[in-house]
Amino acid sequence: MATETGSVKMFFFPFVGGGHQIPMIDTARVFTSHGATSTIIATPSHALNFQKLVTRDQNSGIPITIHTLPAEIPNITGPNIDTTVLLQPLRTFLLSHLPDCIVIDMFHPWASDVVDELQIPRIVFTGTGCFPRCVYGNIRKYIDIESMSSDYEPFVVPNLPHKVELTKSQLSIFARNPSKFPDRMKNVEDKSFGTIINSFYELEPEYADYTRKEIWKKVWIVGPVSLCNRSLEDKTQRGKSSTIDEQGCLKWLNSKEPSSVIYVSFGSMVRLPPKQLMEIAYGLEASGKSFVWVVREILKSEKNKEEEDERWLPEGFEERMKESNRGLIVRGWAPQLLILEHGAIGGFLTHCGWNSTLEAVCAGVPMVTWPLMAEQFSNEKLVTDVLMIGVQVGSREWSGFGEEWKEVVGREKVEIAVKKLMEESEEAAEMRVRVKKIAESGKRAVEEGGTSYQDVDALIRELKERKVNGQD
Ligand code: UDP
Repeated sequence: MATETGSVKMFFFPFVGGGHQIPMIDTARVFTSHGATSTIIATPSHALNFQKLVTRDQNSGIPITIHTLPAEIPNITGPNIDTTVLLQPLRTFLLSHLPDCIVIDMFHPWASDVVDELQIPRIVFTGTGCFPRCVYGNIRKYIDIESMSSDYEPFVVPNLPHKVELTKSQLSIFARNPSKFPDRMKNVEDKSFGTIINSFYELEPEYADYTRKEIWKKVWIVGPVSLCNRSLEDKTQRGKSSTIDEQGCLKWLNSKEPSSVIYVSFGSMVRLPPKQLMEIAYGLEASGKSFVWVVREILKSEKNKEEEDERWLPEGFEERMKESNRGLIVRGWAPQLLILEHGAIGGFLTHCGWNSTLEAVCAGVPMVTWPLMAEQFSNEKLVTDVLMIGVQVGSREWSGFGEEWKEVVGREKVEIAVKKLMEESEEAAEMRVRVKKIAESGKRAVEEGGTSYQDVDALIRELKERKVNGQD
């Protein structure tokens, strides 16, 4: 269906939170910058997370809008939450507003039926890159994980361009028990018009090729989408409003030597238990390095749920860090892009969420990798074994959202990994050079003529041709 301006009309239906919602909003903004008209479909409370950003774009004449569905999803505890309550409102909206395509997050698998029934081209957004998809795809295809006896014996993922080793304990519960969890996501992709990936060709060329050849029929690699955030407001209003004063944070970072500070964050959803936070605090203090540490809501154990907050910092820690000007603790939400791009940041201790990984790469910052759940253990391998731009902290256990915490990584491991990344050595210097080079290629990918730029144009062109040929 053509809009008055003849531009392609795209709908975006992000998941209801964090690490999937944020890049989908960026993606919608990227497509408008290439001439498409974007509408983001959201619930009223989740729309609040990006309302300011969209209003600013609108005030600059950018054709982007939010459509709020008259329904709500209560608490986001992880990607497993059921969003089917949105089915009827979505159907009603689509019946009266047919777009040229709809981009749907893979965590709304139920939405495929509604969209396919209305014959709207459906594009899947996976939230991760090609590498994790190839790793998990090949494990599923070639290995009988269920009959593997050892949880901790490393195995090599077959038929990949690099030697990638994992253990059963690092795989998601779905990959460990495939017979119990049929791959519902696979069908979502199979019948779709194609898949959009937030990555860039130069980051993972062999895996981009492999994905296109072996896994999906149509793939548009359009990232790093976070690079569309250029202004200070873009960077501070992304996801949620920051809980620290940005100017204060920048002033603190300005007082530090270049590449001397490590940024520590576990993404938008992970909640760590007090005993783990305590080990991080000891480890950071012992490393002697300056840090910005984002601490979100703290995980209480089942038996301690009703009790007072357990102590999660060593005695006098905050006072010591304040006196020595060594550390900044952010309770809540940090302006991650702004911090990562500051010259004082020399490392990122990360849970290896796909977005955090890409954002670190784009900022030219090497990583201490500490994967915990989802596909994060495979992202770690990309960072440390393939790209060689990170140091592993040594976490070994995958844990699901809302589960009791399985593994506490000790303070010594934190100290050793932070020092290895942040202290001067040939190995650390080489990592820095490598990541800066990849950052440059990421920037080029989204510039005019770049690989991602071309993929965005290619999808828009394809949708236009489809419209002209009357296939809708
Ligand atoms: N993020 C942020 N501030 C925070 C925590 C997270 O801006 O305090 C953003 C971060 O920049 C990234 C996203 O939230 O874009 C987290 O996504 P990721 O895939 O890294 O992890 P997830 O939240 O999905 O576990």
